[in-house]
Amino acid sequence: MATKEDFYKILNVERNASDAEIKKSYRSLAMKHHPDRNADNPAAAEEKFKQVKEAYEVLSDPKKRSAYDQFGHAGVDQSMGGRGGASDFGDAFSDIFGDMFGRRSGGSQQSGQRGSDLRYNLEISLEEAVEGTEQKIRIPVLVTCGDCSGSGAKKGSSPTTCSMCHGHGQVRMQQGFFTVQQTCPTCRGTGKQIKDPCGKCYGQGRVKDEKTLSAKIPAGVDTGDRIRLSGEGEAGQMGAPSGDLYIEVHVKAHAIFKRDGANLSCEVPISFVTACLGGEIEVPTLGGKVLLKIPTETQTGKLFRLRGKGVKPVRGGPIGDLICKVLIETPVNLTTEQKSLVEKLGESLLSNGTHHSPQESSWIDSLKNLFGGK
Ligand SMILES: [Zn+2]
Ligand SMILES: [Zn+2]
Repeated sequence: MATKEDFYKILNVERNASDAEIKKSYRSLAMKHHPDRNADNPAAAEEKFKQVKEAYEVLSDPKKRSAYDQFGHAGVDQSMGGRGGASDFGDAFSDIFGDMFGRRSGGSQQSGQRGSDLRYNLEISLEEAVEGTEQKIRIPVLVTCGDCSGSGAKKGSSPTTCSMCHGHGQVRMQQGFFTVQQTCPTCRGTGKQIKDPCGKCYGQGRVKDEKTLSAKIPAGVDTGDRIRLSGEGEAGQMGAPSGDLYIEVHVKAHAIFKRDGANLSCEVPISFVTACLGGEIEVPTLGGKVLLKIPTETQTGKLFRLRGKGVKPVRGGPIGDLICKVLIETPVNLTTEQKSLVEKLGESLLSNGTHHSPQESSWIDSLKNLFGGK
């Protein structure tokens, strides 16, 4: 199959071109290459016109464009064999944003079986997810066996021509009235027999190995996000393109912060005294400590929003907030003197006839309502 030119190149637009830009470029190119306007070489113009039209048909359709972005021509070419389920796969991964960051393969296609896509689960810390990181990852791969140089035969020997199919890889079998051609069962279609297999790869010609890749993780990723590394999946057969490697991000739980999209939240203990009289406390953020003003008579569980101290989402949009929930701590290890001071405070609170317990008062009101006013 001939190598097809990249659709974006044909339309002379950028990868991230808007629908309007694509349409505009298509119109001017279609005019330029219209056979009626190219009387000197109408055949070449028609060919060019067809290419432009095909590219536009794909790139103007959001679904087709997304499939093309992810899988190249194989993603949109219905006549392409051996890629069954490619469109389903495309749908399942329609939220992939990794293409923006990963490398792209060219728009080429070959007749062999494309290699499988691989998935790698990558655990990163919340800090790494927020800041972005570059991680070295090791992935298992099959490589040509060094002992036998891929032949599968023991050192000093070489594979012999299969005696059953005489090297054709196919045998003819008589079935009733018909003669059918089948893959040779002796050599499984390779046309060769290995009498003395290589001890390292057991005659497979390939051995398991690992390769190290560097994966750029963009700032703002969250659990479940995938980053695609084009062509880093399993090797294809007979020189066909390799599959892609999908790095799936898992953000580890953080000791202090919880994440909800762009927002972070944390709990901050404050003293009983600060809660009563107000004051400033230090609260942690991912960028270091900041001061938070606590108003007087703050209740436990009150939420304070620190704008812009959350996460900048990887797909764009405003930076989230940090939501601090204050928890009032009951003092412990009180001395006799401190206990008597608290006792005095208690008596004073009871004696002056003012409500000092907003939640208790409303709770008692609710009880009254529940039991009919008594
Ligand atoms: Zn054979
Ligand atoms: Zn070997």
